[in-house]
Amino acid sequence: MHVRPLLFSLLLATATALPAQEQDLSKVEIKSTALGGGLYVLEGSGGNIAALTGTDGVLLVDDEFGVLADKIRAALKGLGADKPVRFIVNTHYHSDHTDGNLAFARAGATIIAHDNLRARLASGGTAGNGASISREVKPADAGALPEITYQSELTVHLDGEQVRVHHYANAHTDGDSVVFFRVAKAVHMGDIFVRYGFPFIDIDGGGNVRGMIAACEDVIRTVPADTKIIPGHGELASVEDLRTYTKMLEDTSALVAQARAAGKTLEQMKQEKLLAAWSARYAPPKAFVNTEAFLESLYNSLPAPRLRHGPAPRPQ
Ligand SMILES: [Zn+2]
Repeated sequence: MHVRPLLFSLLLATATALPAQEQDLSKVEIKSTALGGGLYVLEGSGGNIAALTGTDGVLLVDDEFGVLADKIRAALKGLGADKPVRFIVNTHYHSDHTDGNLAFARAGATIIAHDNLRARLASGGTAGNGASISREVKPADAGALPEITYQSELTVHLDGEQVRVHHYANAHTDGDSVVFFRVAKAVHMGDIFVRYGFPFIDIDGGGNVRGMIAACEDVIRTVPADTKIIPGHGELASVEDLRTYTKMLEDTSALVAQARAAGKTLEQMKQEKLLAAWSARYAPPKAFVNTEAFLESLYNSLPAPRLRHGPAPRPQ
């Protein structure tokens, strides 16, 4: 088996029908970066992992793929974290962030997530942007489901840290958690903030760019300016990086909203290359979410047009 390119793993990042075993993950190495306060970022294949270590045990935010669980444990040991993984917080249901749940839960970890995440893991379904990106997601094994779910916010007190797990509605999906580490001054954003280019927005999974913008704005408003921002994918970022990304989301989605208000169709917007000014920076060649796919995601994030006559549409 050859090593598949990064692009392919990003495609898998949207929770494809392909099980993790069909990727060649045997050569993946886990890279770790210390953020202080016993907190580390672990990067292997899939979403970034935050690992809080200390005398009480380990808490992970996301867990990549099950076949990497032993390597993740070995990496933790290498950091001097010899206590078991006690808690795992899932930022959202996509398999490149949750496929390790079963392996860690079997070894005694308790999985924590938003209510909607549990429902989506249990049922499977379709992940996609409501247009050109669409993947079937299989139901997860019952043993991989979170044992603790929450509705709006939950705090885990561990290793001298307050780990605040906060739900942002309808952002990357409808079950997103952003995780704040107060002592370490760090935030794990899940895939609400990614650095591979235009973000994937799982519209079929209840995501919406307006929710992503609201979440980013709230984080920027809430955290100290020197907070370390852990993206769902890509290198560690600053609050300033998050601000730049949020402005891109705001500007592009405002443009699409204006164009639709002016009566333009999605096809016309594509033909006019409405988002061309952002392509060079956010849609590199072979990008997972190319400019047209991102345009579709923004278009599909707009509220449904109101009827001019007849009864008002029912609230969803
Ligand atoms: Zn995702």
